[in-house]
Amino acid sequence: MFNKTAYNLGAAPNPIRQVFEYGRRQAALVGPENVFDFSLGNPSIPAPPELNQRIHEILDSQSSIRVHGYTSGAGGDLLRSAVAENLNRRFGRHAGPENVFITCGAAPALLAAIKALTVPDSEIIAIAPYFMEYRPFTEAAGSRFVLVPADLPAFQVNLEALDAAINEHTQAVILNSPNNPSGVVLSEETLRRTAALLTEKAAKFGHPIYILADEPYRELVYDGVTVPFIPKLYPNTVVCYSWSKSLSLPGERIGYVYVSEEAEDSKELFSAVAGASRAIGHICAPSLIQQAVAACIDCMPDLEAYDVNRKLLWQGLTEIGYECVRPQGAFYLFVKTPGGDNAAFVEKAMKRNLLPVASEPFGVEGYLRLGYCVSRDMIERALPIFKEIF
Ligand code: PLP
Repeated sequence: MFNKTAYNLGAAPNPIRQVFEYGRRQAALVGPENVFDFSLGNPSIPAPPELNQRIHEILDSQSSIRVHGYTSGAGGDLLRSAVAENLNRRFGRHAGPENVFITCGAAPALLAAIKALTVPDSEIIAIAPYFMEYRPFTEAAGSRFVLVPADLPAFQVNLEALDAAINEHTQAVILNSPNNPSGVVLSEETLRRTAALLTEKAAKFGHPIYILADEPYRELVYDGVTVPFIPKLYPNTVVCYSWSKSLSLPGERIGYVYVSEEAEDSKELFSAVAGASRAIGHICAPSLIQQAVAACIDCMPDLEAYDVNRKLLWQGLTEIGYECVRPQGAFYLFVKTPGGDNAAFVEKAMKRNLLPVASEPFGVEGYLRLGYCVSRDMIERALPIFKEIF
């Protein structure tokens, strides 16, 4: 006998991974150069050389017991303090290490934050299109998952729909900017209006409604766009961050939860995050990478390769006639499916070994996600195929 929910989740295919695995099988048959796989969000620029250098230095200069030992449950003071100082410097915060809980990436950060905010009969809202793991995280924590459509075609927050979805059970709204899969950055105006709505609703229902800011793509923005820092606009914010994308470290599993020092009952909420993480067996993130990241806390990614790809793909596709959501951040292009029929388009594309991800798992229909964290050469050779299918 198994837990049915866990079984169903584990046995269900991951639609993105399915496309990727198909691509791998095709590559074995027709050669990798003939497969145009836009499925995964795996960074394609290398981690900063100083980070690798730092790992060598740490290994050479410290005892193995220290390097590979447990840190404190919430993470070592070194990285927690480095994160707090970084946030204070960049965003005028007054954070301390006591506001920062180190995690194995953004995914467990989200799960801990959602679990910390789950009370009997609670609801967590996400805006579609959304990162598909929000649903299992929310349901595993014991809250109901409520989906609200974005305001199309700009993919900002649909305030009317959000207003209608909030009720006395609402505990939090997840905002992901820059967004996976749309690449859209939520504007300051959108965030101010969202904050005003949540403030009004919190007063009406007599309890805080938190924003969970899911920000693994925070540093991946183009054309001088800035990502507003949500805790500055709304005190009841919990940020879930990771260095998976910004330092190209997805396999190292390192990130954090930042509970704003201005949040209501901030200390207690932090303890709830720590307790939620403990309850899922997730404490003491890997210590070597904690130290390395602490030393490189101010490193910014060199986005040139992504930016070149972004422009090339966006320009190439719009010239053909595809309608693309304006890609300001992350490394995804969200493209309206010509004719609107995803199944038909994807079938044609797969026959030519062109592999986008259909948008249904992200909670919207009629779009394709293209990860442009790939080689420029692949994009150049894929454009004629996009044209043929169009
Ligand atoms: N949130 C979003 C929007 C993502 O796209 C991802 C990963 O792709 C995550 C969270 C999880 O990030 P991590 O790999 O750091 O756990």
